[in-house]
Amino acid sequence: MDHALRRRLLAERLADLGVDALLVSRLPNVRYLTGFSGSNGQVIAGTGDSLFLTDGRYDEQSRREVGDLERRVYLDGFPGFVLEACRSLGIARLGFEAAGTTVKAHGELVAALEGVELVAAGPEVERLRWVKDEAELRLLERAQEITDAGFDGLPGILREGVSERDAALELELAMRRAGADGLAFETIVAFGENAAEPHHEPTARDLRRGDIVKADFGALFAGYHADMTRTLAFGEIAPELLEVYELVRAAQQAGVDAVRAGASAADVDAASRVIIADAGYGNAFSHGLGHGVGLEIHEGPTVRRTSEDVLPEGTVVTIEPGVYLPGKGGVRIEDIVYVTPDGGRVLPRSSKELTVL
Ligand code: ZN
Ligand code: ZN
Repeated sequence: MDHALRRRLLAERLADLGVDALLVSRLPNVRYLTGFSGSNGQVIAGTGDSLFLTDGRYDEQSRREVGDLERRVYLDGFPGFVLEACRSLGIARLGFEAAGTTVKAHGELVAALEGVELVAAGPEVERLRWVKDEAELRLLERAQEITDAGFDGLPGILREGVSERDAALELELAMRRAGADGLAFETIVAFGENAAEPHHEPTARDLRRGDIVKADFGALFAGYHADMTRTLAFGEIAPELLEVYELVRAAQQAGVDAVRAGASAADVDAASRVIIADAGYGNAFSHGLGHGVGLEIHEGPTVRRTSEDVLPEGTVVTIEPGVYLPGKGGVRIEDIVYVTPDGGRVLPRSSKELTVL
């Protein structure tokens, strides 16, 4: 991971922001710029030296992970440390991440930073993170391989009478055994009518013949998140659900086919959505088509109707159309897709043909 290069790219943005340095406090951004994976750390990123701040719990860990950066370890009084750092680095205007700073933290900084002007900054590091470098792509691929391995185990997990909760737990265990550091997000396993909820929390509902099964899950690996949805049939499902399955599969493929560097995210959403709308199910596709994914499960660019984002080369987005029919069930199919000038490269290897168990 070339963290120094990332900090240089950020430094190039500071003049436009009208600041001498940016106080980076959102943890995924801190990790991106330094490699630090603990739960409390900040970076004061300037045009010259950057400074890493953390508390005493992370002295050893940060020595290991952030070895190339000057570190300051505080016991308490974080704002006082920021003031000291600003003075030693000659910072008169300090940007802060508006989306990652609470009103309380902002108030404390204002009170402590005598002689330093605080300037609200937008998602600058997040924007850099849209484009994945080679090292990040490899980690996302690994997270996806583990997720695919979890899917391989799913037919063995889906036995008659198993509950959504137990099936989710077994799926999670399969991913942990395959090498996951943790879960990318709370696993969704939905049987039958529960599949009509786009986001469903697994319950005690047991699996019965004729149920549709929707599973949305992903492995976390070295900070990177995989995200995949597959829908299966447990026995013979209703003819309408079979039709809807093929419809969503076609819409998902159309979305993937519309992906390429330079494409507008709204156009990609439209390419998929029109297929579902033309079949009369437009109102049953009640969410955006996809989202960026990386150090966070949901990040930019956003792929939805109202998005103004343009997909850059090297970004990774999900393509996940769904149709949800209250009382009957629902279908979603989701892949993460790497964006190249020639089109989208689908990372999962798990089949999208309907699996009938
Ligand atoms: Zn998902
Ligand atoms: Zn997703």
